[in-house]
Order: sequence, then structure tokens, then C-alpha cells
Amino acid sequence: MKPFPTIDGHNDTLLKLHLEEHSSDRLFLNETSVGHIDLPRARKGMLSAGFFAIFCPNPSGSMLPDFEEYMNENGYDFPLPSAVDYDYCHHMTNAMVAQLYHLQTKSNGVLKVVKSAEELENLVHKETLGAILHFEGAESIDRDLNALHVYYQAGLRSLGLVWSRPNIFAEGVPYRYPSTPDIGFGLTEPGKKLVQECNKLGIMIDLSHLNEKGFWDVNELSDAPLVATHSNAHTICPISRNLTDKQLDAIAGSNGVVGVTYAVNMLRPDGKLDTDTSLEMIVKHIDYIASRIGIEHVSLGSDFDGTTIPDALGDVTGVPKVIKLLKDRGYSDNALRKLTSENWIRVLKATWK
Ligand SMILES: [Zn+2]
Repeated sequence: MKPFPTIDGHNDTLLKLHLEEHSSDRLFLNETSVGHIDLPRARKGMLSAGFFAIFCPNPSGSMLPDFEEYMNENGYDFPLPSAVDYDYCHHMTNAMVAQLYHLQTKSNGVLKVVKSAEELENLVHKETLGAILHFEGAESIDRDLNALHVYYQAGLRSLGLVWSRPNIFAEGVPYRYPSTPDIGFGLTEPGKKLVQECNKLGIMIDLSHLNEKGFWDVNELSDAPLVATHSNAHTICPISRNLTDKQLDAIAGSNGVVGVTYAVNMLRPDGKLDTDTSLEMIVKHIDYIASRIGIEHVSLGSDFDGTTIPDALGDVTGVPKVIKLLKDRGYSDNALRKLTSENWIRVLKATWK
């Protein structure tokens, strides 16, 4: 089988490294069994580039409340974590951006922060691992958007308006199953300005985690293709974080893309956090989205190092197994190239200035 280098829509590796501050170089530059991504495992898994998210967890530490506590026989409903403070998040974000560039230096350029679509296109099939700087939630951006311009200069090329908690720009969906994503208000006035400023600068807007009213506001306002970096099909797994058919259609209509995520609770029809989930479930979401809106609009968006993935996948080195399953199912090389890299390159060429 021909290798298919992949561009991946979402990982939380920088947060994992940030939390292990004192061993971050070792955990990234050497092969370990900690989490899902390090440089040697990325090479083995044919990861060519990825959106490296910066995310500021609530100061209380844990990202989500105890899963079991909110489970009932029908599903679960986690309350939204409270908003986080700008100063707190700005400070943490700066530390993580600095860490990314530190790792670029330490890797002797094997890790490279990617700032243009040409750079991205050139490094597919090379030994370099491209890092697209992404913020998961705009809490480190001030209302006047000055920080947006500063971070753009520092390499920011993708921004999720929210994670699953509110901020001054928008509201995210809580983790609720089963549930529609239509929870809460649309974009605030500063949120609308933020979308327009991202368009002007050429920063991609990520719709994963945004609630449905916010999604339609971005659809109305943005002149760029619509993108959800790590979300699946709501028809298969009806969790609030997944995309309804109508949303999928809008993404296709804008010539955008969906990155299919490996989060087990977003793959499984029963929404359970069960790692005994087959790789066929990933294939099912890809099949569904591709048959509804076309292979041009589906891509990969793992959420490595940020979520619970199938045991059968293990880590980034398991991705070629998914590609093999798709190949066995009859996906052509051409279709697989679109899925693994070309769709992201097309969307980023149209979005980045
Ligand atoms: Zn996420």
C-alpha cells in the first residue's frame, strides 16, 4: 500500500507537554509511550502536519468533571465549565507558544511552525513535521483584538472561537448526550468582529465546540470556507459536539472541510466513553460524511493527546490502519490523498492570505 502522509485537524500535544513542563523536550523529541504523539511516533504514523492546539484548562485543573458522575441510563450531561480569565489564559498561551518555538529549535527544524499554504504543501512527503498554530478558544484574545494581531505575527493561523465554555465572543456546546448542538446564544458583537478580523488577517475559524446558533452566525458572516477540525456525524452519534446533516451541508456549500475525530464518545452511536471501540466506527463516520457531502469535504481531525481514543488505534502510529481499512473498502488512492492531505491544503489556500 502506498503511504499516505496525513495532515491532521487537531491535537492537544502542546498542553500535554505544558503540563509536563520539566520533561517536555524529552517527551516530544524521544519516542515514549506517554500520550499519543511525539516526534518519532509522528514519523511512524506518517503524520506530516497537524493543527497544534493551545488550550487553557480551567484553573481547577480537570478539563471535564468525572464522567461517571453525570452518566445516567440515557446518556450524560456535563455542565459547562465556567469562563476563564483573560489574564490567566493570555499568560498560559504565551508560555505554550514559546514552548512550541523552543521545540522547533530543539528538533533542529524537524518540527516546523507552518505559516503559509505553500510551506504546508512543500512539507508533505518530507521528513519535517509541520505545526499549524491553533487556539482552542479565544480567551487569550482581548475585546479590542490587539492580541489577535500580535498572535498572528507569532504564527497563529487557526482559531476556535470557543471551547465548550462561554467567553466574550461566543458560547460552546456542553458535553451532552443525546443532544442537539442547538444550545445557547449565537455570537456576541465582539464575536462578530472577531470573525471579520480573522477573515481579514487570514486566520482559519474552527467551528468544533461552537454551538449551533454560533455556527450559523459564522456561516452568515465569514467569507472563508467553513471548517470543523474535530467533529463527527450527529446522525451516527447524537452528541452535542457532532455536526447535524444541515451543518454538514453548509460546510460543503462553503467548500469547507470536517476533520473526523477519534474521540470514542463522539464515534459510538451509544455515546459511551468505551475504548473498546472498533476502527470501523471511524470508517463509518468518514463513509457517512463522504457519501452525504463528498470526499472533498472530509478529512482527519484526531484530537490526539486531548481525548480518549479506541484501544485498537493506540496512538498516532495507528492511523495507517484506518487508511488501510478505507483502502480495503474501495477508497481510491485519489480519494485517500484528498482525505489525508489535499482537502486541508485546498481549504487553507483559500483561507490564509
Ligand atoms: Zn476539542
